[in-house]
Amino acid sequence: MFTGGYTLKLIRIDLAEESYQAEDIPEEYFRALLGGRGVAAKYYYDEIGPDVKPFSDENKLIFMTGPLTGTPVYSGTKFQLATKSPLSEKYICSNSSGFLGPELKCAGFDGIIIEGKASKPVYITIVDNDVKFHDAAPIMGKTTVQAEEYIKANHEEINKGIMSIGVGGENRVVYACIQVGDRSFGRGGGGAVMGDKNLKAIAVHGTSKVKLHNEADLKEYITGNMKACRDSKPVHTKLGTAQYTEVINNLGCYSVANFQTGVLDNAESLYAGEFMGKYKVKNAACYRCPIACAQVCEVKEGPFEGAKSDPEYETIGAFGGQCCVLDPAAIIAANQVCDEVGIDTMQAGTMIAFAMELNQRGLLKSEEADGVDLCWGNGESVVALLHKIANREGIGDLLAKSMYEIAREHPEWKKYLMHVKGMAFAAYEPRGFYGMGLAYGTSARGACHNVGGWTIRDELTSGKFDRFALIGKGKMVKDIQDTRAYVDSLGICTVVRSGMGFSDNPNGKILEYVTGVDFTPELMEIGERVYGLERLIYEREGITREDDYLPERTMTEKLPTGMAKGSVLTKEMYDVMLDEY
Ligand code: SF4
Repeated sequence: MFTGGYTLKLIRIDLAEESYQAEDIPEEYFRALLGGRGVAAKYYYDEIGPDVKPFSDENKLIFMTGPLTGTPVYSGTKFQLATKSPLSEKYICSNSSGFLGPELKCAGFDGIIIEGKASKPVYITIVDNDVKFHDAAPIMGKTTVQAEEYIKANHEEINKGIMSIGVGGENRVVYACIQVGDRSFGRGGGGAVMGDKNLKAIAVHGTSKVKLHNEADLKEYITGNMKACRDSKPVHTKLGTAQYTEVINNLGCYSVANFQTGVLDNAESLYAGEFMGKYKVKNAACYRCPIACAQVCEVKEGPFEGAKSDPEYETIGAFGGQCCVLDPAAIIAANQVCDEVGIDTMQAGTMIAFAMELNQRGLLKSEEADGVDLCWGNGESVVALLHKIANREGIGDLLAKSMYEIAREHPEWKKYLMHVKGMAFAAYEPRGFYGMGLAYGTSARGACHNVGGWTIRDELTSGKFDRFALIGKGKMVKDIQDTRAYVDSLGICTVVRSGMGFSDNPNGKILEYVTGVDFTPELMEIGERVYGLERLIYEREGITREDDYLPERTMTEKLPTGMAKGSVLTKEMYDVMLDEY
């Protein structure tokens, strides 16, 4: 019996009927799957069948917090989404930081399930247990920032708990994201599903506090850990995730020119010291986070003057590495455009790099791209293309599609589409460290470095594994995936998880103070269960071992430059890891 952490309730909203009802969540769901990603996957399994199309009335948006979301625990900010993805045409999980998850918990709910399709554009407010539907006409076509401002101006009780879509979602760009303040449900196209449902935004405010099993001991434990937690990630505070650009590029493992190579020449301007040194104006933090890893950057002069955003490693990799843009100002501007129009920076960068490679090979001329210069490194072209993608205008309509759809329409271009299960590679070249290849292949949401497994520490920086070894990588990736799966079910950020006791050798003391239940011995098992459930869903949706292989380029072409020069990850080599996995 839980005595804190959970509300054991969700709010189910029917857009077609403009109705809602609160319903109980069985306690055993949380005992087995903890919350967040795990429980969202359970509802998906029960309610979204394999034949449901991403853009259909039957598809649902399932949002779920974890037991630590909205509690005093540091960075208890996360909440998860499960839906049928228009990007992969399969199950997708996605997570966001920000303030909406904590607000939802304080409103008395662990989750929200959105069903049906509204007959006209709406946005929803949830203030405690009062749900209202509002005409979204005044904010249709507006940016996510404008939508947020409008909602705040018209609902004075609502402050930070807002998620919205931009024109990317309204136009059903298959990788449209849901923006949650300056954070987002980035990958998988949740924003396009919202757009298809005529749902522009959800805003939440809760006035209660999350019930805690043992508040006094929890606060003492956390206070004692505060300095240690903050001091555990000084480089994250100073440079954010951008710190990895230099090391990854130097090791020949960067995402460059649509993965034609693993090294970006003359990339010093993108290295975090120089990038942040020149453009950073302040740090920003999610709910109760002592690390504040977001590096807010501003462009003060030049063609991108006035641009302001907080680019992460992946965004710098998507536009800097993938599109070979060496001007940080252009990347800050591109990131801002993506946030405002609501599209995933990672997928967008790879789609533009794909177009640039087609141009390099004479398969797509600038004249066929509305006159936009498709040469590598043109930052102004990147920004122009992002607007075209969001508005599905000209060449943007092609680049707004899923990789599967493009391959069906242009089979001759298939070998330049760098993805697994429709999702673009993250900013890591797997021929430079083979475990990352297995992580991309076996991830429960396509070529993802988070759900699939962030193998950088084990393979590149700690010396624990030889990056070019095959034996042992199956077990390594599985352990990372299981750890991530239980952490994603808790409701805290992965950056602080170790400082809070949530590693692959967990200490669940905090969780016990919050819920009254000692999960410590079961946490890794729960992670395995969550991952197993997701792969079960995949299997039901027709995914087989064949879908776990990597693109042709990765398995047949040797890296031409850098410290991993000559390396390739053939099918035979990959099978060694996949068999062990
Ligand atoms: S470490 Fe960064 S992403 Fe994680 S909660 Fe803190 S500010 Fe947010």
